[in-house]
Amino acid sequence: MAAAPDNAKHIDKEALLAKYVAERDKRLRPDGNAQYIRLTGRFADYNTDPYTAPVERAPIFDHVPFTFIGGGFAGLLTGARLAEAGVPGARIVEKGGDFGGTWYWNRYPGAQCDTASMVYMPLLEETGHRPSEKYAHGPEIYEQCQRIGRQYRLYENALFQTEVTNLEWDGEGRRWIVSTNRGDRFTSDHVGMGIGPLHVPKLPGIPGIETFKGHAFHTSRWDYGYTGGDPKGAPLDKLGDRRVAIIGTGATSVQAVPHLARWAKQLYVVQRTPSSVDVRNNGPIDPDWFAEIATPGWQARWLENFTDSQTGGKDVEDLVQDGWTELARRIRTELASLPRENRTQAAMLAAFENADFEKMEEVRARVDAVVDDQETAARLKAWYRQLCKRPCFHDAYLQAFNTPSVTLVDTDGKGVERITETGFVVGGVEYAVDCIIFASGFEVGTDFRSRSGFEVVGRDGLTLSEAWREGMKSLHGIHTHGFPNAFFVQPAQGANLISNIPHNLTASAGAIADVVAHAINRGLHEVEVTQAAQDAWIETLLKSPPRLTGAPDCTPGYYNNEGQAPTPIQRLAVGYPAGASAYFRYLDAWRAAGDFKGLEFR
Ligand code: NDP
Repeated sequence: MAAAPDNAKHIDKEALLAKYVAERDKRLRPDGNAQYIRLTGRFADYNTDPYTAPVERAPIFDHVPFTFIGGGFAGLLTGARLAEAGVPGARIVEKGGDFGGTWYWNRYPGAQCDTASMVYMPLLEETGHRPSEKYAHGPEIYEQCQRIGRQYRLYENALFQTEVTNLEWDGEGRRWIVSTNRGDRFTSDHVGMGIGPLHVPKLPGIPGIETFKGHAFHTSRWDYGYTGGDPKGAPLDKLGDRRVAIIGTGATSVQAVPHLARWAKQLYVVQRTPSSVDVRNNGPIDPDWFAEIATPGWQARWLENFTDSQTGGKDVEDLVQDGWTELARRIRTELASLPRENRTQAAMLAAFENADFEKMEEVRARVDAVVDDQETAARLKAWYRQLCKRPCFHDAYLQAFNTPSVTLVDTDGKGVERITETGFVVGGVEYAVDCIIFASGFEVGTDFRSRSGFEVVGRDGLTLSEAWREGMKSLHGIHTHGFPNAFFVQPAQGANLISNIPHNLTASAGAIADVVAHAINRGLHEVEVTQAAQDAWIETLLKSPPRLTGAPDCTPGYYNNEGQAPTPIQRLAVGYPAGASAYFRYLDAWRAAGDFKGLEFR
């Protein structure tokens, strides 16, 4: 690696790298993603909707101009932008009982955004909502989803508790036929899909998991009937005489553990890989300050600033000032001291590595500073680069381990050995518990059909499974050849900005609204990306520099296919090579030009 100015000189990098490798090796396992199981069969009831009772309705057989599958941020943003562009009344089909997507399902105690509300919460300016905190809690974000639904009249056409079972292009009618599990079969001129990258809950395939006789649920289906309390923070008052285990220590667990620690008689936090947990510094948003900054166009400026400060490659005033922008600031400082002609890709990687070593040393020192018991502190330290796994930020998680009723059960990278009728086994020791909460995450990196649950049959019977057999193929992550009038809303093959997913969705929603309005205003019935434009885009994407997030040498996890070689699907889950800021500027220019280069309108 080329020399970079070395502010991390005091760190023994060789020793640190050797430690990273050793910890990674402990966690590597041959079964990769196959170690996880779905919430079906014995676990099906872990997957039922605990929030909304089933509602009967008659099947629908009508025609609408636009259908969107998924009622989370992607669907709400697209519905809103379409309405603004003169195409109101999008029909959103959603399996949950309301809008919200991830914020509908994930109501575990402590759920909160990890990216600042000012840039994370969609359509704040349009709805006139001032976030109450730097990092808003789940109920406020869920309410924002409902506010968007009301303001843009998206409730009027929405179909909740409904799962699409098939989407089929009718070439003669030049429209889509939408079938659902409620017996609907309606048609739509255009369809959008925003199924969410992390929406199918998964369980660890631990031997004996089906034998447990106590209570159990997945964090995305929190059972307040069992724990007491509610998503707004009411005491989990039924846990006072219960022994609880939470399996997993990812971003969800980090937020839920402080609440369980406070109320459970005994809490076992079962860890396989520690998360890096940096400071959070949450606080209320001052209404006077907000009134001053919330001048027209404020949220677009903030979005641009947040993305620029990480991926713009230049020094900008950092408005958000958080853990996401801090690492980028450090890298820039390292690079700034290099002569311009030495700022090569290798030098940038070296600067990144130095900045990361420093940052992670601080994150580990924080564990020692916060956690009283030295052995527990040692086990809570993360030995990998910060972007190897999803970085976490919290001011009460590490502190929870100072509560006498909280025990860290570290599995030394191996995971839980066994689940029994009455508890779980780690290191040959059985821990008896009344309840196991699975904070074991969501299916990632599998093919579209596996996560969506439906097939998309495009022009001339071409299925999406076939078209994407070797990975996603698109223009901008939105349009796919062979699938006219169909639009995908998700980050891959666009900006692929993981620190703020809603920014990706906002950009795509705006672009889709422009394209659809353009077609409708000119009386054109079909829009489709050309094969040539799609091929050229994929060629551009494949020039991307090596990824910093979840690199192959990272500790295993969903960021890097559990440490195994990337599948074809993952190889194409990349973003614009020049970075997210450059992509958003490129897409703005593409939209502004008005000819939508690469698309064919018929
Ligand atoms: P994750 O996939 O991040 O975490 C799953 C956890 O379960 C990991 O700690 C994993 O260990 C552990 N695990 C799996 N199998 C076993 C086993 N056999 N024995 C012991 N432990 C096991 O899921 P989360 O729900 O925490 O988060 C998923 C994603 O959702 C996040 O990465 C983030 O993108 C998003 N999220 C965002 C939030 C926000 O923005 N506010 C909040 C919460 C989630 P290991 O690490 O070793 O695999």
